[in-house]
Amino acid sequence: MRFKYSRYIIFLIVLLVSVFFILSIIFPLPSEKPYSTVLYDRNGNFLKAFLANDGIWRLKTSPEEIPEHYKNLIINKEDRFFYYHFGVNPFSIVRALMQNIISGKRVSGASTITMQVARMLEPKKRTIWSKLIEVFRAIQLEVKYSKDEILQLYLSMIPLGGNVEGLKSGAMIYYQTPIDRLNIAQLFDLIVIPNDPNDLRPDKYPERLNQERWKRAKPFFKKGILTKADSIVFAETPSAVNRKAPPQLAPHFCYRVKSMLKYGDNYKTTLDLNIQSVAEQFLSNHLRTWKLLGVKNGALIVIENKSMNVVAYVGSENFDDSLAFGQVDAVQAIRSPGSTLKPFLYAFQMDNGVLTPKTRLLDVPYDFEGYTVENYDGTYSGYVFADEALRKSLNVPMIYLLKEAGLRSFCEFLCRLGFNSLQYQFDKLGLSMIIGGCGVTLEELATAYATFPNGGMYAKPRFLLDQTGINRSRVFSEDAAFMITEILTGVERPDMPNNFIAASNLPVIAFKTGTSYGRRDAWCFGYTAEYTVGVWIGNVTNKGNPNLVGSKSAAPLLVDILNSISRSRQKYILKIPDGVGIRDVCVESGKLPGPYCKHTIEDYYSILYTTSDICDVEKEYLVSPDKSVHYCGSCLGNHNYKSLIYKNYPKELLNYWRKIGKKFSVAPPHNPLCERVFGDEGPKIISPTNGMTYIMFSNEQNIVFQASSGVDVRVHYWYLNNNYLGKFKVGQKIFKSLETGEYTVSCMDDKGRLSKVVFKVNRL
Ligand SMILES: [Zn+2]
Ligand SMILES: [Zn+2]
Repeated sequence: MRFKYSRYIIFLIVLLVSVFFILSIIFPLPSEKPYSTVLYDRNGNFLKAFLANDGIWRLKTSPEEIPEHYKNLIINKEDRFFYYHFGVNPFSIVRALMQNIISGKRVSGASTITMQVARMLEPKKRTIWSKLIEVFRAIQLEVKYSKDEILQLYLSMIPLGGNVEGLKSGAMIYYQTPIDRLNIAQLFDLIVIPNDPNDLRPDKYPERLNQERWKRAKPFFKKGILTKADSIVFAETPSAVNRKAPPQLAPHFCYRVKSMLKYGDNYKTTLDLNIQSVAEQFLSNHLRTWKLLGVKNGALIVIENKSMNVVAYVGSENFDDSLAFGQVDAVQAIRSPGSTLKPFLYAFQMDNGVLTPKTRLLDVPYDFEGYTVENYDGTYSGYVFADEALRKSLNVPMIYLLKEAGLRSFCEFLCRLGFNSLQYQFDKLGLSMIIGGCGVTLEELATAYATFPNGGMYAKPRFLLDQTGINRSRVFSEDAAFMITEILTGVERPDMPNNFIAASNLPVIAFKTGTSYGRRDAWCFGYTAEYTVGVWIGNVTNKGNPNLVGSKSAAPLLVDILNSISRSRQKYILKIPDGVGIRDVCVESGKLPGPYCKHTIEDYYSILYTTSDICDVEKEYLVSPDKSVHYCGSCLGNHNYKSLIYKNYPKELLNYWRKIGKKFSVAPPHNPLCERVFGDEGPKIISPTNGMTYIMFSNEQNIVFQASSGVDVRVHYWYLNNNYLGKFKVGQKIFKSLETGEYTVSCMDDKGRLSKVVFKVNRL
């Protein structure tokens, strides 16, 4: 008999459980309501909250955010056995039913916190039938969620009047404070309001709420859960409040982050409110003077190099100033970069091996795409060192350089540096893009500049703290990053003369300014070892202003910010990489000195990338005694001659010098009676063979260098790994004993034409 009885029980339980699960499949839990997105800075300071997708202030409130005694009070008031029941409390249901039957009123009370959550997820009229559904939903909730998760749903969804839901929203909107700063009376008000959210709104009916507060608190005072001290707070705290929209800090940053998020939740961002305030303050102070001159807007971004965290982001001076278009986020605006792309062209060409700081670049009037490129100040310097051209931000050398680099491949290089805006402009871009004829954003530029202090490794900027690992990719070499940083730290600073920086206690800053065509934008990008900053000053309306100049309008602000936030005082930004060497180059070309080069200068170069071209400016000529013609090997014959050295400058430079009346001497023309036609081919190196590995079995074995040339050539100049070996007759054999290793041997004829081969030696 007992056996049968228990079998029925088991059967009943199995039946109930099966029915529950079948019903759960047919009637799954309604989905959770969307939360508000709430953003915090990296130290947990509140930045901004957004309405949830359904238009409600519903800030996610986790139980652990609530002080323990507040939590106990809430559970005591709503559902004493919350942690012990399975969603419903059978005893209180029976009790409530009895009371309802006796009094004949509508069904009320007996709701556990879980059942209240069920009702908030799926609001229904209060009938017995809906109560049954609530019971079913409550059990579903208990099966799916932990107690703390259910409590979180409850705390986040309790209705507090109007479009305010949840304790955190209430604390913020009614009291402008975080939950843990609420006093006991304010908290109690918040848990009383849900009893009748429309009639107990503290911003509308504070008296009613106050009455309700005391009425509901009575039993708690009696039981001693609320103390005498609490009653004083109750008496001193009015129920009336000022409803206010949540405050917003770094609003443009917050909108930028929000646009990347899929779900409403609480997020810790990378922003540092301290640095943000410094940046905002500096921008505001800085703009004060510029506004008087008609320059109204500014924006800036600060990126921490190591982590690529965006630590400050100011899209406009004042978000709420609609007259100055404060809502426009100038960090994201596509604008002309002026000269600020130039350092990237340097990086590109340095890795192509054709540029070092002392490379000579042409700076002469240059006609292209229908107009003459001019430098900023309208002058030309003829022939400049690359480092000087970048520091002075000359335009013409950059056009030549970009032409040499190839527009298309340089643009592809920029895309690898994150300039996504350029992808849509590819077809429209010309060589002028390097002096501002294109559109990019402040964020793109600042991110790309951060690649320099990161030694050529690019990574996207980060906006959220818990984003997993950084994806870094090498876009240019550490060697180029170092050499460009050396150049840009030599730009004259607005805060003091350069020679004082080393002695001062200020951080070393590398920076580049830019001014767009028509003086619409003033830019400055710069970095210390720790931070990269990008600054834009101009008018959102795109109105030009004669006072806008990058070096005056933007650079001082950038230097102020970097001086203020950089803590490191190391006297360098990047250490000299192993791949960078120092060599002497000819001042005339920036290339390795040839046999007739007189003046050399020290220069950095990339051991791996920089080509070992030899200077071909200074050349030896066999000149007639009256210096009217020069002879080559085939027309020299029995003529008397003098051997003289002349400089062979590029034609463009000579034309320019002629135009400005500069005096210079060139070699006399080649003997007009000569029948020899010069080809372009240099000496033919007969030995060693290009690409060959020479196996050496004994110490006596040597490598032979030998080259042939046309009859007009008299001598060959030989170089081994850029070391000058000497001047030899054409066809003469040179013997060299070489150790195991890789070698480059170059041979130049007396016309300056060069050939080279690469080979290996392997000594056994
Ligand atoms: Zn030279
Ligand atoms: Zn000749």
